[in-house]
Amino acid sequence: MSDKIRLSVLVSLIVLFGCAAIAQTKARLRTSDTELALEALPEAPRVAQFDFPGQPAWQNRASEALIPFAEISGEKAACSWKFNSEASRISDQQVVFVYDSASPHLRLSWEWRTRQSYGPLEHQVRIENLDNREMWIPMQDSLAFDWQVDPKQALQQLFVEKGANTPSNAGTHQVPVGDGFHWTGTSSTYGDLFENQPREIIPWTLVERNDAGHSGWYAGIEFSGRIRVALSREKDSLQAALGLNPDPSPFRTRLKPGESFESPVVFFGGFRDGPDGAGNVLRPWVRAVLGNPETWKDPNYPLVVNNSWGGGMQVNEEIAERMIRDSAELGVDMFHIDAGWFRDVGDWYPNPEKFPRGLGVIADDAHKHGLKFGIWVDWTQAGLSTQPGALNARDPKVRNWMVTDIPQDWKPEPFKGQTIDIGVPEAKEWAEHEVNRIITDYHLDMLEHDGYLVAHGCDRADHPHAAPDPLNKCVYKSSGAYFVDGPNATDVSYHAVRAYYEIYSKMRQSHPGLLFEVCNDGGRMVDFGTAAHGDYFSITDTYDPLSNRRAFYDTSHVLPPAMLESYVEKWPVPRIENFRYMLRSGMMGWLTIMLDTNAWSAEQHAEAKKEIALYKKELRGLIRDANLYHVSPRPDGVHWDGIEYWDPERKRGVLYAFRGTVENEKTHSFVLHGLQPAAQYLLKFHDSGATRTVTGSQLLSGGVNVALNVPNSSELIFIEEVSK
Ligand SMILES: [Zn+2]
Repeated sequence: MSDKIRLSVLVSLIVLFGCAAIAQTKARLRTSDTELALEALPEAPRVAQFDFPGQPAWQNRASEALIPFAEISGEKAACSWKFNSEASRISDQQVVFVYDSASPHLRLSWEWRTRQSYGPLEHQVRIENLDNREMWIPMQDSLAFDWQVDPKQALQQLFVEKGANTPSNAGTHQVPVGDGFHWTGTSSTYGDLFENQPREIIPWTLVERNDAGHSGWYAGIEFSGRIRVALSREKDSLQAALGLNPDPSPFRTRLKPGESFESPVVFFGGFRDGPDGAGNVLRPWVRAVLGNPETWKDPNYPLVVNNSWGGGMQVNEEIAERMIRDSAELGVDMFHIDAGWFRDVGDWYPNPEKFPRGLGVIADDAHKHGLKFGIWVDWTQAGLSTQPGALNARDPKVRNWMVTDIPQDWKPEPFKGQTIDIGVPEAKEWAEHEVNRIITDYHLDMLEHDGYLVAHGCDRADHPHAAPDPLNKCVYKSSGAYFVDGPNATDVSYHAVRAYYEIYSKMRQSHPGLLFEVCNDGGRMVDFGTAAHGDYFSITDTYDPLSNRRAFYDTSHVLPPAMLESYVEKWPVPRIENFRYMLRSGMMGWLTIMLDTNAWSAEQHAEAKKEIALYKKELRGLIRDANLYHVSPRPDGVHWDGIEYWDPERKRGVLYAFRGTVENEKTHSFVLHGLQPAAQYLLKFHDSGATRTVTGSQLLSGGVNVALNVPNSSELIFIEEVSK
């Protein structure tokens, strides 16, 4: 070997080993409460360890399971994943480990990112088809763990149900996670629609160590399609998986050349001090990361709303104008016309008999009275109207957008039609145009979408999603519409939800300041994907005081209370105390009154006006910014229940106290949280007028004693730090 060659070999070796030395395969990402050690193994990436400051670390034993094959022209081709260090990226805020499969030619990006200096980290998997042929890929989970745990370590899980339809008797579940534990929670946009369907969860779960720190981790999914969260324990192994729902299997999704599959974004964070400790980090994080900055900029958010559904479908111009006058007199912020204003389902033009001058004049009248204006609409539903502009299920152009062929004798219900599949590009384009027209023509400040926006399964073989399995599908009717079940259901929802998000993202760009209410038949679309695309949620479809408080109790574990709307509807209120109790049961988050306020007595009217003024002056700021504590068991309507807000910045808070129906429980003590033991606090009982000064340590141990003589009544106790 000549010297020259020797030198060249030496240089090559230096380059080779030099590259290997800088090819970083380990990285750490951290916020103030979550730190992850990430590792790129040669054939798969993994989270190696999770740390929360001051608590024992969590060690993960599994690496992420990457899809093992793709199908090309009906043939399965095994993937052989290899770490690509050159394409990978590492910074303080983001780690992307890239894996390539040469044949089938795919690139997988495994990404973690911090979005704030505090709170959880976000994670997503992207799989890109680099081949020049169409492929089908199987299920890729968003995230999976196998935590090593001490077999003796007691663990417990917390998860919360959606308030879909009516909140159940449980709602907030705290369960021990022992050996042999297996649990799966699911979420779609159809919670509690079908018989024998398990209740859906808000796609999130928390695991806590039963020790002094009450520390652990939580994880959630930022997607509204068919998804699942699974948790199981076998001795020293705690396994968790989050992502699209693989059931019914087999899931498959199409990737055209150049297209990418994006797993639903998940977030993962650590906490201490139990579920409220987790919530007081997660809620502000959701506001900062997923919330709409335009919305939060408005100091009047969350709004007080007067909604027309108190009179059902009867609304017309005269009723609307009377409601606007009364709304202004009561001091509410927005007038909201619910269902009943349109010509027909799918025909979203004002009914000329009810609104001969259209909706624009109603909006202008609301604006003149200092109110915002919003309407209800069900913009993915087709009906049978033949008027120009209507979405007619029999129209040959539209027929194929339905999830199945609709029988000749089908008729829509008064405000429910047949959902179209907006995962179809032409259907999406129509819907986007229609939503934009509605917002513009009717001068809207707020658009509420209701009904079943996302297709539930689909029968069509020529849509972008996977074709149905003819041997494993069922078509059935519920609430006047047709639904399809089969192995393609998750892929159908994957496409339709992404279309919905794209439409709403565009609307936000072209209509800054516009508010979106997420309704979907009351509480069935409460998830972190809609939190990123809408401004507030109808959290349940049952509006009595107990259902409102239950839905709020459950949902407020994970979402900012300002986003949680309670509709307050007519309820028996023989005494003014009961009237206040009814209103306040919907005043812990976003308040929408759904009563005929003109039917109120003079006393009730005056009382409502005072309560709305109190909400705007004292409560709204706390609902926006304060920490929230669940200071009682979940409401049962029989015993007492309560929610505490405490804002450590303003050094102010409030306790909402509700008394149930039991005769012999006239007093109750609420142990408070978040206060300084050594500080002095002034308590002001709003209704009784009493005041008391007590130490933090008293409030944190013995609590605040509240006395109420009337069953189904309430009190608001304002808390103010007066000295140290
Ligand atoms: Zn379809």
